[in-house]
Amino acid sequence: MNERMLGLGSKRSVIREIFEYGKRRAQEVGAENVFDFSLGNPSVQPPAIVAQTLEELLKTEDPTALHGYTSAQGDLSVRKAIAGYIASSYGVPADPDFIYMTCGAAASLTITLSALCNAGDEVITFKPYFTEYKVFAETAGATLVALPSEPDTFQIDFSALEQAIGPRTAAVLINSPNNPSGAVYSEATIERLAAVLRERSQRLGRTIYLITDEPYRELVYGGVRVPYVTRYYPHSVVCYSYSKSLSLPGERIGYIFVSPKAAEAKKLYLAVCGAGRALGYVCAPSLFQKLIARCQGAVSDVSAYERNRDLLAGALRSFGFSCVQPDGAFYLFVKAPGGDANAFCERAKGFGLLLVPGDDFGCEGYVRIAYCVSHAMIERSLPAFEKLAKACGL
Ligand code: PLP
Repeated sequence: MNERMLGLGSKRSVIREIFEYGKRRAQEVGAENVFDFSLGNPSVQPPAIVAQTLEELLKTEDPTALHGYTSAQGDLSVRKAIAGYIASSYGVPADPDFIYMTCGAAASLTITLSALCNAGDEVITFKPYFTEYKVFAETAGATLVALPSEPDTFQIDFSALEQAIGPRTAAVLINSPNNPSGAVYSEATIERLAAVLRERSQRLGRTIYLITDEPYRELVYGGVRVPYVTRYYPHSVVCYSYSKSLSLPGERIGYIFVSPKAAEAKKLYLAVCGAGRALGYVCAPSLFQKLIARCQGAVSDVSAYERNRDLLAGALRSFGFSCVQPDGAFYLFVKAPGGDANAFCERAKGFGLLLVPGDDFGCEGYVRIAYCVSHAMIERSLPAFEKLAKACGL
């Protein structure tokens, strides 16, 4: 048996543990007394166009083709629709021959990392980071090197980055809007990152690729823009997913877009096809490929998340908690009073509040609160947060 796989399968993620605890606890004390902020499962329903398109497809398309295998990289008409959308929305060159349909961002990342890395390579990312990055990088034979971010803004700490890049650096992996901090990298951050990667790639004689994990691209508030990285750095691979933008996390649909201007773009795309094959993905779900082709540009009601953010962040601050205002995604990353996030989460449980310690995201002393829940639950949870603040001496 493979010991590493056994280890991964035997140990549930901290988030899943908390979620399972919440379900047990709800049976004991009643669901109305448990405020589960653990999971990043969208609470906003998919936009109406999703159900309409599904109905239309089922009524009008040949079922054998609709549910059949597509080519491994995805149906050509679907890839054309996506390439057209990328080119017209972001003003960058895009081509269906550089798009590979996947089962969501997790698959996009495992495939991209396997396509790019050889044993002994390093992949640099920034804290806090999505907990599965380490698993994905190690599956590709690489080591994840997690660097600190700027403390108050969660933008990139460039001196840490410059020190960390070395001959083994295969890629830098970013996630903006970020899970769990909610930070969005500014244009200045992306421009500076591109300049550092360009200069270092040249000095090392090795192209350092930029991988961008973008399931939250459209979930931004107050007019904040998410720069499209291929405009700034050609050697980029975009790992996209419809899990959050269309509230379809269980349907497993997304794509990889290799910038056609990347060094050895054609070879990299072939390596992506090879990695998808080696990992046994076969093809992304056929029905949902065809669905998302007709839903380009549609997004779930982001204003519902913004309302949640405003209510929760405002209330928590008024109770004395401290957190950076998230510009995107649907998480608050709150400083744990006293600095011990695990102890704070245990104390929160006593008030029915299920929060996730930041340790798993590489950031001790913080907790993540997923506000992709109903507005009513947030309203009901506020007295519990107030009591928690008092119990912490705030
Ligand atoms: N990357 C980040 C930052 C995420 O938060 C998630 C899911 O929560 C994923 C990737 C995986 O998303 P998907 O459902 O598209 O596989």
